[in-house]
Amino acid sequence: MDDIVIVGAGPVGLMLACELGLAGVRPIVLEKRAEPSELPKANGLGGQIVELLDHRGLLERFSVGSPFSGRAPGFPFGGVPLRFEGLDDIPMRLLLIQQPRLERLLTERALELGVEIRRGCEVRSLSQDEEGVTLELGDGDRLRARYVAGCDGARSLVREQAGIEFAGTTDDEGLLIGHFKTGIGVFDSLETDGLRPGWNRTPRGRLLLTSLHEGVLIAGVREPGIAPDGPVTLADFQAAVRRVWGSDLALGEPIWLSGTVAQARLAERYRAGRVFLAGDAAHLFPAGGSALNVGMTDAVNLGWKLAAVLRGRVPDTRHGALLDTYEPERRAIGARTLMQTRAQAMMDRLEGEDGALLELLTEVFALEQPARHLATLLHDSGVRYGTGGHPLTGRFVPDLPLEGGGRVAELMRAGRPVLLDLGAGVTLDDDWIEVVRARCDDPPAGALLIRPDGYVAWAGDGDPTEAAREWLGLTASRV
Ligand SMILES: Cc1cc2nc3c(=O)[nH]c(=O)nc-3n(C[C@H](O)[C@H](O)[C@H](O)COP(=O)(O)OP(=O)(O)OC[C@H]3O[C@@H](n4cnc5c(N)ncnc54)[C@H](O)[C@@H]3O)c2cc1C
Repeated sequence: MDDIVIVGAGPVGLMLACELGLAGVRPIVLEKRAEPSELPKANGLGGQIVELLDHRGLLERFSVGSPFSGRAPGFPFGGVPLRFEGLDDIPMRLLLIQQPRLERLLTERALELGVEIRRGCEVRSLSQDEEGVTLELGDGDRLRARYVAGCDGARSLVREQAGIEFAGTTDDEGLLIGHFKTGIGVFDSLETDGLRPGWNRTPRGRLLLTSLHEGVLIAGVREPGIAPDGPVTLADFQAAVRRVWGSDLALGEPIWLSGTVAQARLAERYRAGRVFLAGDAAHLFPAGGSALNVGMTDAVNLGWKLAAVLRGRVPDTRHGALLDTYEPERRAIGARTLMQTRAQAMMDRLEGEDGALLELLTEVFALEQPARHLATLLHDSGVRYGTGGHPLTGRFVPDLPLEGGGRVAELMRAGRPVLLDLGAGVTLDDDWIEVVRARCDDPPAGALLIRPDGYVAWAGDGDPTEAAREWLGLTASRV
């Protein structure tokens, strides 16, 4: 029996494979496509996943050739271009990277870590019993694994076969989206056509014009009754602009074009026995920009927990306490992201007299506190895992600069829990936990116990043993 099979080599399945590989587990990834997808989907990663790539030492490598990597100067939110430059410590991180390149880099990393990726290998059905999961493959082969992760996207077969409901709604409008190389001042020239940044409405549909960085125009066309799915040509895009706007527009040279229909759905459960869901298989959001962030951070949350069980660090009970924390932690973030993307989708539709509400929201979003709140919502949903204890408990660890050089992020390369002693003189005796003694200016606590996914399990000066048991799933005989 294999330890774990991941169904789907999209960004989420590959990220999970990398996390498991880093922790010394060798997952098998089954992917029905014979070749990696070159479909231009996401244009970047916005949010906590960028910090996690930094934790794993991958940010520099993934940023090569990127037009932008750093704290987000702004972000489109329901057609309102949010600006974060005025904030003293911008919570949201952004890495512009096209999805096919992201998938190529994740594949490279997974292969370096010894992951086996079987392409052209479709999973046709699965069933589970007390000991494991049986997968029937397209070529008639059969696999048995202790655990299965369904990272098989929106139409997840794993979700369906595990009997997990995926309630929600499908939009009645299709969206064509394109990124175009433009000269400086493109918005001025578009304004002469009567267009403005954000959504422009006509009786036949809506046209979005926005930008994430200088020289690139993001244009979107929403039209009722169309259901695009997959590649879109420039001629398709221009025809849609003509139908909705009534005339041609000089948008610039296309960088990529695509089409989609938005859905708003959240899996009723993220776990059914030995089967887990992550990424689009677990959630679909009706506004852009959040899906990869939430999906890939699902993978990081699940990865270390599965690895801890599979490496025998914590008990392999069917309803093992550590594995049971995956669903409540990640579903809370899925639900909050669904809320904010639904709000964005509603804002997208404000028109006529409702346009006054959009105008007011635009004014409010320009204020410091609302802008910070929205940046946090986009970054990590603002969700705290658990309650009580030190204010840092259940939060993502701040990237403190350490005396003598180095940062907290650099301690997280190996994907192990870290007990960072900042002067408290505490220790934990377990070979999985790395104890690091360091100093920093103005330490937030005498010591921090940091989970492999960057979340603080405990902060204080006392004894971290109980927190290590509770948050890392370790038994009393281990620590
Ligand atoms: C036009 C467009 C623009 C987008 N823009 C953004 C954006 O700006 N920001 C953002 O965050 N997100 C964006 N997204 C969404 C983002 O692309 C998805 O959220 C992301 O691809 C989800 O990753 P995933 O790994 O969960 O699923 P997928 O990428 O769908 O990967 C699932 C994989 O599973 C494989 N598979 C499915 N069934 C089986 C089976 N039975 N057996 C074996 N393999 C199987 C599939 O072939 C696929 O490779 C966009 C999407 C589209 C369509």
